[in-house]
Amino acid sequence: MTKTTSIHLPLFQRFDCHSCGYCCRNLVVNVTDTERETILKAGWQSRIPDRPLFKRYRFKGRDLYRLAKYPDDRCIFLSDDGLCRLHAETGIKTKPLACRLYPFVPTPGTDTVHIDLRVDCPSVAANKGRNLTVHSQEIDGLVRETGTRAMTEPPMWQGTRQLSMEEFQAVVAAFEGLLRKGSLPIRTRLLAGCYLLDLLYTIRVQKVRDDRLVELIELLSEAAIEEAQQQNNSVNQLSKRPAKLFRQWLFLHTITDNPDDLDAGFLKKITRSWSRYRQARRFITYRGPVPPVMPGWSTADFEDIARIKTGPDDTLEPLCRSLRVKLDAHAFAGPGYYKYDLIPGLTALWLSSAVVGWLARLTAITKQRDTLTLDDILTGLRQAHHTYGVSPVFARFSERWRLRGLANVGTPAALLREYGP
Ligand code: SF4
Repeated sequence: MTKTTSIHLPLFQRFDCHSCGYCCRNLVVNVTDTERETILKAGWQSRIPDRPLFKRYRFKGRDLYRLAKYPDDRCIFLSDDGLCRLHAETGIKTKPLACRLYPFVPTPGTDTVHIDLRVDCPSVAANKGRNLTVHSQEIDGLVRETGTRAMTEPPMWQGTRQLSMEEFQAVVAAFEGLLRKGSLPIRTRLLAGCYLLDLLYTIRVQKVRDDRLVELIELLSEAAIEEAQQQNNSVNQLSKRPAKLFRQWLFLHTITDNPDDLDAGFLKKITRSWSRYRQARRFITYRGPVPPVMPGWSTADFEDIARIKTGPDDTLEPLCRSLRVKLDAHAFAGPGYYKYDLIPGLTALWLSSAVVGWLARLTAITKQRDTLTLDDILTGLRQAHHTYGVSPVFARFSERWRLRGLANVGTPAALLREYGP
């Protein structure tokens, strides 16, 4: 990896905006008072006289604003030809910071600010565009606007043990090393990560520090690779409880709140909660039709999902790359991921592969395929990353607790085999 003046970029990732309009239809853009005034001063209310430009909402007793949308979810400033009217007609300076940043996410890293990328962006998921170095000056300026700084101390190991920066970096490097191991199939690399997690959960880090911990991580990493090679074709040993816990976790990755529901009346809120509850129950029982949680989901049965066969190993490249982006940006623990401790954060990151796999299988069914393709993996990946690191639900204590139930020895590997791609 290479540093620019003040930021660290994942140089294995490419990006250019292809004006697909995904972000301008699917994201909620909250605006500051200054951004709202800039847009109003540029005369936009007289350019779009028949509609409000902003939607006001109450949050924690304060009046806040977000950009208004058309009934079809298009941003009020998105033109029919898919371009941002703010950018085209009154200049980039009138665009809110959130719009100018997407898909980049400045994240506190150990040494400087690291750049994470939103993998729900089609160009990021498909690795389309130029090397990120061409955007470095622009990103550098945006990072300064956000005021993001390097982390002051790395995440805890798990609850009690504060890590040094070197120890934290050694663990990150071990998982990155597994993903970069080109001599192994990607599936084996993912499995090796599961076994490395098993080993990290069992060691007593209070007694091992500094260089000895770094050495130990290297040894464990080699042991995990050996284990993955030996167990590559072994049969699944997934018991019922972690399977249920995982499916609840999976369900939470599929739902996104409609911001308009914040202003909804009591009856509408109750109806929505009841519907969510029933959908969640269906994921737990895992029989019969998959509830239509997301628009466009097919009417598949849960039983059909397990029948979809895995595809060629190289279809997993986007998944492998997305995990590397999160590790490289430190966007899986600490300030980059709901202040999770290191090991639970790595568990959530690694198990996101199983979420991607499940969503990819559902996509394959929708497209009437019986084997996963690259297209299915890309769709599953983008859907999973619409909520990964974004949905506030995962900041809750209940979700930290749930991850503990998914972290027993052998469970991550079994989940990956059962639901993964
Ligand atoms: S303001 Fe422009 S860039 Fe931002 S969401 Fe609207 S159309 Fe897209």
